Amino acid sequence: MPAANRRPIVGTGWKMNNLAADAARYASAMQAALSDVDLSVLDIFVLPPFTALPAAAAAFGDMPVAIGGQNMHWAESGAWTGEISAAMLKDAGCTYVELAHAERLKHFGETYECVRLKVMAALRAGLSPIICLGESSEDKDLDRADEALSLQLVTVLSGLAPTHLQHIVLAYEPRWAIGVTEAASPSYVAARHRHLRAVLAERFGRDAAETVRIIYGGSVNRDNAMVLAALPEVDGLFVGRQAWTGEGFAEIVRIVAAHSPKGDKA
Ligand code: PEP
Repeated sequence: MPAANRRPIVGTGWKMNNLAADAARYASAMQAALSDVDLSVLDIFVLPPFTALPAAAAAFGDMPVAIGGQNMHWAESGAWTGEISAAMLKDAGCTYVELAHAERLKHFGETYECVRLKVMAALRAGLSPIICLGESSEDKDLDRADEALSLQLVTVLSGLAPTHLQHIVLAYEPRWAIGVTEAASPSYVAARHRHLRAVLAERFGRDAAETVRIIYGGSVNRDNAMVLAALPEVDGLFVGRQAWTGEGFAEIVRIVAAHSPKGDKA
């Protein structure tokens, strides 16, 4: 459960799944499953593929669900064939943009230095970046997860002012916990979240650091979401496979809402 001064936030990325026509079905399944939940106590985001963004913006129009892109380019416009800009995401109805997902780093060679440029471009355009951070299994095994996280965080946020931090969401997603059967253990997650917030405080001051929401992602499902959402260090959850149906995502939204400082306990 997050500190009282931070709104819980829960979201999902659809990755390369779903066509525009699927957005309406997904949204109505969510709406039906959450009709008895007070959604005013938290923020919810869905990150569809680019082609489904306008359809998703329309489908979620009646719900407090923001949409976002799964990636973007750092330039405002120009000769960047195949890329998409922050302004284009806004034009399609986005509030958020996901940056540095482990699959972007692994399969497309993205670096944290280029993510840094994207973070700045997103903020300039008025988008909230959801910045994924996470150590590799090797870093974990060598007991240097915090070191790896510090380096990632300091790189992607370098050049920002403390006032920018309130617009940023950090998604702690250990790479070894994505797409597998078990999430990281609650105590491990709590320790990494504490470390990330300590690095933020050291760089930007305690007050600014307190404004950042840090959410956990990596094999979250209906069985482990409750204990993860209850951690005081965790401001929300970022969900992949469990949220590939509207009903599945709704189960996690319900759990995070119940752990809002303003919501009822589950
Ligand atoms: C992800 O890919 O960011 C993710 C969290 O996926 P999953 O929940 O399926 O592990």
